[in-house]
Parts: sequence; structure tokens; C-alpha cells
Amino acid sequence: MSMYDMDLDRVIRKIASKDAQTVGLQFPEGLKMQAVQIARKIEEETDATVIISGDPCFGACDVSDWKMKGSVDLIVHYGHTPLPLKYEVPTLFIEAFSNVDIKKSLEKSLEELKDYSRLGLVTTTQHLHLLAEIKDFLEDNGKEVILGSSPSTRKGQVLGCNFSSIKDLDAEIILFIGSGNFHPLGIQMFSNAPVLAIDPYNNEIRRMDEYADRILRIRFARITKARGAKKWGIIVSSKEGQYRMTLAKEIKRTLKDHGMEAYIIMADHINPDILLPYMELEAFVVSACPRIAIDDSQMYKKPLLTPQELEIVLDKRQWENYQLDEILFHERYK
Ligand code: SF4
Repeated sequence: MSMYDMDLDRVIRKIASKDAQTVGLQFPEGLKMQAVQIARKIEEETDATVIISGDPCFGACDVSDWKMKGSVDLIVHYGHTPLPLKYEVPTLFIEAFSNVDIKKSLEKSLEELKDYSRLGLVTTTQHLHLLAEIKDFLEDNGKEVILGSSPSTRKGQVLGCNFSSIKDLDAEIILFIGSGNFHPLGIQMFSNAPVLAIDPYNNEIRRMDEYADRILRIRFARITKARGAKKWGIIVSSKEGQYRMTLAKEIKRTLKDHGMEAYIIMADHINPDILLPYMELEAFVVSACPRIAIDDSQMYKKPLLTPQELEIVLDKRQWENYQLDEILFHERYK
């Protein structure tokens, strides 16, 4: 049995109601191994032809509607909730809720939480369906639980680039439910409160402060290295949800006002290889996914900075006011 609910019945019903002849399937990297099995079942149970998107996908910022437009009648996008964006092809979002049992990890977390009474609670798409159960458990154990809201995300949900649901949250500690360091690192860098990551897959509980400090030291080193740069590249993504051309042009103007050269480079999938030919450029600012500069930093020889980190280079922001870059999707179409 899959560890995730791929909700095939809902997919089949949608294909029938749309009378879709060709269906695009898009999966994040962690779910791609299920693609063939799902395509087989859809083709067995409907008359539709399936096209699997082979491109990398890391978020709902990157629904393959622009690329699949004209080729498919419906896209089924797995693993993310919709963002307030305009999608070009009818798209069904399947959250792929996890079947993992959270109870043991929650019980284990109580010892770590003994000195805290007011807890903020956040998670990713895969565990949103468990939030009510988790809240009940913590309240039964004498805790006050706060779930934040935001116009870009569901209640209690964070994205790697959007932490609006914990902005100004009046919590003594923030509990993150899910796997990996990606989301809890972002939460810790965004929030002043300590963050406790509860990983139900490995039954692991860990504080994020030391890891976040290590990443901040790396950011400081990159910013320091970039201070000497006179020729800059500004990276724009052509992915709909990451496209911030206005910001890129503003950055270009700012750099020119500071007597530097700056060139905008647009690409779909940003990776170290695409920057190799631009040997003259000494540093880059990323207006695409805010996490490229932070999480992929080690893969790049030259410094990659977020727009806020560039402000530190240009002495427009103090290091003490370090701020994570976010994409506020709900403001995109105002
Ligand atoms: S922009 Fe980056 S962090 Fe935000 S949803 Fe897309 S892939 Fe995730």
C-alpha cells in the first residue's frame, strides 16, 4: 500500500465529468515513482490517454499547465494544494495525504514541550488532514494550540517560501509536523520562537535552532563574498508561480544606481549548469524560488543571494534584520 492517499477514485470521477480524452499527470520528486502505476490504472479504468510530466516539480508554483496547454484536457497535480494563481488548463490538485501514524511521535514530543504552554502548530500539505487530531491530543495534554491563517495557504500550512500563517503568531514554541529539514529550517529562519520538528516517519523530534544558525553562518559568508562583485546576474524563473520580473528589473536598477553591471537571465529549471557560461558575472541574485539561494547554495561556485541579502551587501539592510525571501502569492494578481 502506498504511504500516501493518491485518491484515484476522485481522479477517475474528474476525468469522467470533464470527458477528458488526454490527461496530464504531474508529481513532485518524492511521488514520481508512483507515476506509472497511476497512469496504468487511469488507462485501465477510463478511455483517456495519460501523459506524465517528466520535468522536475517542487511546488504548486510550477503546475505544468503552460507546457501541457494544447496537449491535455486536464492536469492532475499531486502533492500540493492550489495557489491563488491563474492556471491555463483545468487542474485537479490531489494533496496525497500521508497515512503515517502520528500518535507515537506526539507522545514522545510531550517531554520536549513540558516547559511550554502556548504552541503554534504548522505542517505541509501531506499532514493537513491530521491537524484537528494533533490539536485535540495536545489540548488533552494541557496545551493551548494556535493555528495561523494566511490568504496564500490553508490554515496551519506553510510552504517553503511562504510563512504568512505563522507571521505574528503569539506562540512560545512552534511545532512542525513532517519530514526533512526544508520546511522547519524556513520556519526557524522566519520566526523568533524556537521550532520543534516532529518527524512521524522516523519518530524523531528535533530542535531547529542549531541547524538554522549553521545555515545563517553560510549565508553570512556568501554575503561577505558577494561584497566584492561588480558584475551581477539576476535570475528570473519562467515558472508561473516563481515569475517575479518586476522585482528583477527593480534589482537591476538598484545595482546600476550603485555603479554595477547587472544582467537578467531567465530560465525554467535553475541549476548550476545554466550559470556556467556567464563567467564574467561574479555573483547572482535569485528572484525565482527563494529557497534556491539558501538550500542549494553549496552547489554553486559563485554566491547566489536572495533580494533581501543583496540589500545587506548594499548596506540598505542590517545583518541583524536578516529576513527570509517570500513569495506572497495572494498579492500577485491584485
Ligand atoms: S517557489 Fe520554491 S518554495 Fe515556493 S512553492 Fe515553489 S518550489 Fe516551493
